[in-house]
Amino acid sequence: MSLKSEISRLEKLSRKLEPPPTLRRKVRGEVVSYTEAFLNSLAEGKAYQSISDMGIGLLSEPVGEKPLPVRKALKLLKHSVDFPALNPASGGHLGYIPGGGLYYASLGDYMADVTNRYAGVYYAGPGAVRMENMLIRWVAGVVGYPASSAGNLTSGGSIANLIAICTARDAKRVKAATLSRSVIYLTHQAHHSLEKAIRIAGLAECPIRHVPMDKAYRMDPLALQQQIKEDIRNGLIPFLLIASAGTTDVGAIDPMPELAQIAKKHRLWFHVDAAYGGFFVLTKEGKRKLKGMEKSDSLVIDPHKGLFLPYGIGIVLVKDRKQMNATHYYQANYMQDALSATEEPSPADLSPELTKHFRGLRMWLPLKLHGLAPFRACLQEKLLLARFFYEEIRKLGFETGPPPQLSVVTYRYVPPKGDPNIFNKKLLKFVQEDGHVFISSTLLEEKFILRFACLSFRTHKSTVDTLLKVLKRAMVRLMKRGAQR
Ligand SMILES: *Cc1c(COP(=O)(O)O)cnc(C)c1O
Repeated sequence: MSLKSEISRLEKLSRKLEPPPTLRRKVRGEVVSYTEAFLNSLAEGKAYQSISDMGIGLLSEPVGEKPLPVRKALKLLKHSVDFPALNPASGGHLGYIPGGGLYYASLGDYMADVTNRYAGVYYAGPGAVRMENMLIRWVAGVVGYPASSAGNLTSGGSIANLIAICTARDAKRVKAATLSRSVIYLTHQAHHSLEKAIRIAGLAECPIRHVPMDKAYRMDPLALQQQIKEDIRNGLIPFLLIASAGTTDVGAIDPMPELAQIAKKHRLWFHVDAAYGGFFVLTKEGKRKLKGMEKSDSLVIDPHKGLFLPYGIGIVLVKDRKQMNATHYYQANYMQDALSATEEPSPADLSPELTKHFRGLRMWLPLKLHGLAPFRACLQEKLLLARFFYEEIRKLGFETGPPPQLSVVTYRYVPPKGDPNIFNKKLLKFVQEDGHVFISSTLLEEKFILRFACLSFRTHKSTVDTLLKVLKRAMVRLMKRGAQR
């Protein structure tokens, strides 16, 4: 076969990768029908589906040479992916930290994927990079960081924390020789992604101090102060203080103004993990409660939590942009000088990534199309729903943790007889099997505790009423069973 005829044969086949407009319309139509049906079923549907096969059917269709018709693909998706277990798009998702899924964000992703703009380097995609930097500056302003701060749109809070921890390590010149004397301070309630980041950043050999907390699971500044002094006396070098602005477990906010002062006094890098709680700053109440987070050196905040975006976007902010760049620059030292305050930095110089998804568009589009007012209202609604749930669950005779600082409530029922841990495990199981709403649990001082975590933009008062109803039903059932024994 001649070269030309071989090329022409290949071209015919490779052109199949560009479907013509009619075929695009057909496939797009099927996909839109699918997503519309999904969205329209959310209000009625369950938040959790217990199904034993857990999507195993997907494996019966391995990747192969032959194309699969779109309907078949969607059927597979529906049965094996979008049906089993937790439905994070449901407003009934009240476990862990609920996710979002704003529709306009999906359209932003759609456009970002179609145009495939390059958002790694300013030179290659100036508009895309400008958009991301503009969003970062907006978030910096919202949390009280100066406009000169640097930042990055990451895949989520974990990578954002990693970027901050690596920057802190380099800023404080923690090297092999000083590793075992450089001390890190956090509480047992800090998110596990931080311990993971510490390990990945090569800081596993640093002494790690779990600072005692008060009754509401907030870091005790006095205990921190004492620990730092003791460490200094023992010839150690306190270097990093990590606070949480809304812990995942109980929604606790560490006393950031006091912690910032201590960090400043002892020249520690002060990192605030606001992945869950940060965007409550858009409400008056949240702004008051989150005071002090602007005093940190670095901060993590997750738009795929508090801005209700679909999974896949977190943000890290670092005040010292030179330092963030020094840790992550892409090409060479000589690029550093190009990073003046007036110029747009490139994401590739501020994160481990080079080529990356154009994440800015999925955040920009919903913010622009909705405006901020509904976001503020939705966040305030979540704070009030948590307070409402807290009051109602107490009326039902449940024991609760402290009043919610943000939108997480911890609670459990202590039955007149028997092991409360077993009882509450059964309660949880009942709620999960019912499936209308989904809740999760945690362990606090060996106690099995139920959590109410309210952050889905689709959660409203009727959702909370449903949870209360299901819990009441579960109680009746379990008490009856207990009485029969
Ligand atoms: C969710 C969360 C993280 C981790 O963020 P991901 O986006 O899941 O990677 C870190 N810290 C806190 C407080 C969180 O709630």
